[in-house]
Amino acid sequence: MRAFNFSAGPAAMPLEVLELAAQEMTNWHDCGMGVMEMSHRGREFISIYEQTHQDLKDLLAVPDHFKILFMQGGGIAENAVVPMNLSRGGSVDFVISGSWSQKSFVEAQKYCQVQAAASAESDGFHHLPEPSTWRLNPQASYVHLCTNETIHGVECHDIPDLKALGVDTPLVIDFSSHVLAHPVDWRRVGLAFAGAQKNIGPAGLTLVIVREDLLGQALAICPSAFNYALVAKHDSMFNTPPTYSIYMAGLVMQWLKRQTEDDLSGVLAIQARNQKKAQLLYNAIDQSSFYENRVAKSSRSVMNVPFYLHDESLNERFLQGAKAAGLLQLKGHKSVGGMRASIYNAMPLEGVQALVSFMQEFERTAA
Ligand SMILES: *Cc1c(COP(=O)(O)O)cnc(C)c1O
Repeated sequence: MRAFNFSAGPAAMPLEVLELAAQEMTNWHDCGMGVMEMSHRGREFISIYEQTHQDLKDLLAVPDHFKILFMQGGGIAENAVVPMNLSRGGSVDFVISGSWSQKSFVEAQKYCQVQAAASAESDGFHHLPEPSTWRLNPQASYVHLCTNETIHGVECHDIPDLKALGVDTPLVIDFSSHVLAHPVDWRRVGLAFAGAQKNIGPAGLTLVIVREDLLGQALAICPSAFNYALVAKHDSMFNTPPTYSIYMAGLVMQWLKRQTEDDLSGVLAIQARNQKKAQLLYNAIDQSSFYENRVAKSSRSVMNVPFYLHDESLNERFLQGAKAAGLLQLKGHKSVGGMRASIYNAMPLEGVQALVSFMQEFERTAA
């Protein structure tokens, strides 16, 4: 039996997608070969790439003046690739709202000057610093913001308008762990990047969506395979792209397009469902004196819900009981401890209901 998998990433995939991929594994659409055996320049794979590209563009309503790039290296490579492409060797502002943005801040220092425009470290990363308090440098090449801090469970629910904050600087967002969970206001974004393994598909694919006017200013040391302008010029085929991961991402896009909820479809449907899932889990935590979530309510992530048992000596028993009940990978990140339920797009409402029932039963019997 398949369990409910709460992994933070690589994370659960929709069952329908896995089953279709299994059917098509050895012989895609009767062409006589499987997708991972195809030339990336052949007619078959080009059709998969074009469909995936179009579906992603439609689902996220990406405007025509943005390029969608399918790259490799993951989010962590982007911590270097973004400054190599966009910093122009100048200074970059960072909003430090958790472990991921902190990592990005440290890595960028190899390529440019960095400034922390805001930091929530002194508060243990339990809230997103209010945009009106960010100390923005008007000369900065860009501002980096991680819009969902996967480890701390802190989410930016409304992308700030930097112009309204007094600077005309591109905003770079790391949206790895909530991409495709809600619409994006592209008027406020210069570049968005995401590793695929949370909400898009298998690890190995990295998505970059970048405004065209930001291309062509890479540092001389930037490797060609990571130069956005070159990758864009070659439609993500400057080198061999992660073909199988792109195919799987394509199946996920098709699945997303089929989703409906409360008369909504596609990304809006998944957003509505995600909100129901998160509300159910946060309510259960807040209403109990046995569990707690420490994130400020307005900054709580819809995708990653870290929580603690007040009696931490029960942690192991909780995890073992959960596993026996078919609820997997609930252990919190080692840097923060406790538990974490990642409830990405592929997690059905039933999975969260099963988790909440287990939590209530555990509370009742553990005391
Ligand atoms: C998972 C994740 C990444 C990607 O990390 P890789 O291991 O390099 O794929 C980057 N940023 C955030 C916010 C993440 O959650």
